[in-house]
Amino acid sequence: MAYVITDSCTKDSLCVDACPVDCIHPKEDEPDFESAPTLFINPVECIDCGACVPVCPASAIYVLEELPAELVAAADRNAAHYN
Ligand code: SF4
Ligand code: SF4
Repeated sequence: MAYVITDSCTKDSLCVDACPVDCIHPKEDEPDFESAPTLFINPVECIDCGACVPVCPASAIYVLEELPAELVAAADRNAAHYN
């Protein structure tokens, strides 16, 4: 299981500051920040703490099992960023 960032992410990076294991990228000082459509959660490193969910003003973060059907592709996009 892991949490997933979906299409409505505005890249304000609030979740990056909330994550205790630093598994949300790209960060603003990383080279692919500008080109990334959203930030992405590393599904291997995410510890499923849920701390990122309440800080997201766009309600863009879901636990994998609760992804709405129209947003399931986001799970692969998050994982692919780390492959
Ligand atoms: S807090 Fe939400 S909108 Fe902001 S970067 Fe994270 S997922 Fe995107
Ligand atoms: S659920 Fe926790 S560990 Fe996973 S991305 Fe969110 S804050 Fe980080």
